[in-house]
Amino acid sequence: MRDSRPHQPLTYDVRLPDEAQADALRLLDASREVANAALTLLWSHLDDFKADRVGPAWKQVGKYMGSPKSHGDRQWRCESETVGRILRQQAERKKAFELIQPILSNGFIRPKTEKRPAGKNRPAIKEAIGALQKSLEEDETNFVALQNVVEQCCNYFFQSDQFPETYEELQPIPFLHIGLLTYAGDDGSEKGQAYRLALDLDAGTARFRFRYPDEAGVWHWRKVDTIIPLPEVVKERLTRGKLMAPTLREEQRADGSRTAVLDFIIEVEKADLPAWESVERVLGADWGVHTLLTATTVDEHSEQVGRPFFLNTGGFDGRQARTRRQIDELKKKVAKYEEQRDALPPDHPKRAWFNQKLAVWRREMDLCWRKYEQRNRALAHLASNVLLLLCQVHGCSLLSMESLKTLKTTGRGRGVRGRWRNYRNNTTIRGEIWRLLRYKCHLIGLRFHTEQPRGTSHTCPRCGHPAKTYRSPSDRIEAVKWGRWMFCESCHYNGDRDYCASVNIARLGVTYLVQMKQKSLARSCSITDPRVKPVSYTGAGSALLLPPTGSDTRPSVSGKKCYYPGWLGSAFLQSSQKKSVFLRLSG
Ligand SMILES: [Zn+2]
Repeated sequence: MRDSRPHQPLTYDVRLPDEAQADALRLLDASREVANAALTLLWSHLDDFKADRVGPAWKQVGKYMGSPKSHGDRQWRCESETVGRILRQQAERKKAFELIQPILSNGFIRPKTEKRPAGKNRPAIKEAIGALQKSLEEDETNFVALQNVVEQCCNYFFQSDQFPETYEELQPIPFLHIGLLTYAGDDGSEKGQAYRLALDLDAGTARFRFRYPDEAGVWHWRKVDTIIPLPEVVKERLTRGKLMAPTLREEQRADGSRTAVLDFIIEVEKADLPAWESVERVLGADWGVHTLLTATTVDEHSEQVGRPFFLNTGGFDGRQARTRRQIDELKKKVAKYEEQRDALPPDHPKRAWFNQKLAVWRREMDLCWRKYEQRNRALAHLASNVLLLLCQVHGCSLLSMESLKTLKTTGRGRGVRGRWRNYRNNTTIRGEIWRLLRYKCHLIGLRFHTEQPRGTSHTCPRCGHPAKTYRSPSDRIEAVKWGRWMFCESCHYNGDRDYCASVNIARLGVTYLVQMKQKSLARSCSITDPRVKPVSYTGAGSALLLPPTGSDTRPSVSGKKCYYPGWLGSAFLQSSQKKSVFLRLSG
């Protein structure tokens, strides 16, 4: 038996080698078909998955049905484990729906005006959920779950002009759109009857063997083991953690191609979270308009600690954009050649030539995508590690950030010169950083707290009044929503926009912390709430009235505009760091 310390599963996806791809994808297709058939049959029993959830999910599914298309007993167990997990999750959402259904009201919908289409009245939604929560004594995570379902109900309203009466009306059957098969239903990596997995940590590889349907649909064991080279981080985790049953999964690329990946799931011990009484400082991190991340530390007495930190990705965006352009060009070429090839008669000899060329370009495209994604991942790891390092250096035990939900919907980054191009990619990276931070925090015992960021870049961190942003410190005639410089009319404080936002997010974190310390219960509050205390800059003097920080730190020799960072010694990290630096930061 394992000890009582909390554990946390960490997932690392590893692409299967080429030789196993076709068989694995066929296996995933077959499993998906079975899973979707089972979901169709069991959808009307969703309520039963609400309460009775003792034991593995496959057992629960097995109570209701056998395999709709049998490919072996353990194969079905794995498929039904996948199905059961989906149904349990949906049952949780149904519970949330039943809580919020009575409070759904037209007040949640912002009616259409001449300028804007109909939308969600988020303040009203938030207030209603808050009130509902007070009556339930539920915690913060459920707030997000409830909000999520309310948002889905509003989307339903936009389509049907009314709110749904039942959960099933709101939620269509959650079919699997990509192949997904957890091996958790099988008998383990040594005795498994659908898969086998053996680790060779000295060689740094895993030997994976699996059952699959061949092209004729006949099921076999693979004749040979597939040797999967393990990434460094997986090897390292495996020395301390326990390997769980893996999940086979399909990934779809933007170009429509598919690859099979194996998720290595490693269960590691969770570090204890620090007691609230011991938390004294909060690191507030904000997704900047002109930096990827800006972070500032504020202590529980609302004093800023140390200098702010700007993570600037410099040449990274440009490199990613170049790779994207390269991919786009390859795409165009492929489309053109395909068209020319298809115009030929079926037995034309030149078809083979076209096919050869196409294969080369597709491979190149695949390489570009891989490079692109790898770079994103590397940057996400670097950024999250740097923030965690900063927490250690500044003695912060609480990291306060925007919630992921708003991250997806926020239009931040648009409208800023040259940024729009990278906007989509930034959203991807931010999501990745956010997720990494969340689990790394749990791993090292740091509290992670998320906030709704509404108004954080348009509130003065010093006096708490609403403030406007401008293009630059000297150009204060016209306020610009995405302006880089914040100026407060009330107290004349002014500063870099991203810096102000990060202080505000830290202020929200401090408010949360203080509530937790006093009442062990806290509700997120808005930036205008009087409980959110102002912060005055206590570093080496206030920011100088200089142009805002940015990537263009070079002098104006080239005739370009010259920017100075507002704080000497604030760090600018480029993502083009050498591998050794990444590793050092990974600690
Ligand atoms: Zn002010």
